[in-house]
Amino acid sequence: MFVLEFKCYGKTTQYQAIDEAIRTVQFVRNKCLRHWMDNREIGQKAIYAYSTVLRKEFAFVNQLNSTACQASAERTWSAISRFYDNCKKAVKEKGYPKFKKNVRSVEYKYSGWKLSEDRKKITFTDKKGIGTLKLKGTRDLNYFQIDQIKRVRLVRRADGYYVQFCIKEDLRWIEPKELELTKHCVGIDVGLKYFYADSDGNTVEIPQYYRQAEKQLNKLNRRKSRKFRKGEKPSNNYFKARNKYARKHLRVSRQRRGFVERVAWRVIQSNDLVAYENLNVKSMVKNYRLAKSINDAAWSMFRRLLEYFGWKYGKVTVAVPPYNTSQNCSNCGEKVQKTLSTRTHICPHCGFVEDRDINASINILKLALRTVGHTGTWEQSLNAWGERTSILVGSDLLGQVLS
Ligand SMILES: [Zn+2]
Repeated sequence: MFVLEFKCYGKTTQYQAIDEAIRTVQFVRNKCLRHWMDNREIGQKAIYAYSTVLRKEFAFVNQLNSTACQASAERTWSAISRFYDNCKKAVKEKGYPKFKKNVRSVEYKYSGWKLSEDRKKITFTDKKGIGTLKLKGTRDLNYFQIDQIKRVRLVRRADGYYVQFCIKEDLRWIEPKELELTKHCVGIDVGLKYFYADSDGNTVEIPQYYRQAEKQLNKLNRRKSRKFRKGEKPSNNYFKARNKYARKHLRVSRQRRGFVERVAWRVIQSNDLVAYENLNVKSMVKNYRLAKSINDAAWSMFRRLLEYFGWKYGKVTVAVPPYNTSQNCSNCGEKVQKTLSTRTHICPHCGFVEDRDINASINILKLALRTVGHTGTWEQSLNAWGERTSILVGSDLLGQVLS
């Protein structure tokens, strides 16, 4: 599955209709959740059935396309079942499902929408009155069969409304793109000083705009708060300031995505095997100073993209368990204790001197090669696992990464 996104344009009344559809989705979700809270023993089927009851009871729910209504109930159930799973797994934060007050999207399945002949317009056919919207984007929907489109989602953002198409990948479409093998493998270490350092001794800097954006975001946030008076109805100026702030956030997240995509693509293009640490980003980000230098979203996005590109272009990605990779000497294997602030690895045993992160990335690569093939060379490991593989060493999560 991948997502194609288009900005969409229509009249103000149409935007209002989208808002109304989104509100209905939120209503259905919260109602289903309430129903579960009151009857804790009920399961998935009962939740789905309840959404049908709501359709009979409330005219405005009935106006929403039935698959969109269903999708909302499904989301509720996935939040509930995630909570149940976490309870079983004894995770610390169970994530008890919450009522939502800021839903931003409505999701249709196979009905309730229709693309125009040239596929540059979309019409929503349910009784919410959204009507026909113009689609604007760089991708062409004509490459796909209509039945490849599994979901259509309308999303509201600070700078307008968007239509997303979730498209089921037909492997025939991407097969010819397989990249040539480079006979090169690399270990990478994401860090504080650099975005990442690799086992070839290269480093990629964290782009400067992170710092700039941070300052601007703070400024806009202050401006927004100044316009807010407790107990009073928020003014127009407050909403304007809030929108400015939200738009800035949007811009920053797009910049981040662009940066991470470029970097991940470059790594996959120039290597056949990429090894990285299987980090628990959540616990890392609790450390305020770490979180500040670059946020966790960038790292987990980076990893997801590496795995996705790897899968798509027949390269191997390996996540190794984080085990003393920054402490051990990559040359002789001895442990060399260092604190977070020690930037250089100097080995008293063999005299090896290297940047701390580069040393770690060499360890990561070694660990990966040792674990993947057991026999040592990457070519054998490639054959052993076949192409299109993403490997999570030391865990049974392989299926999760691939799905
Ligand atoms: Zn050493």
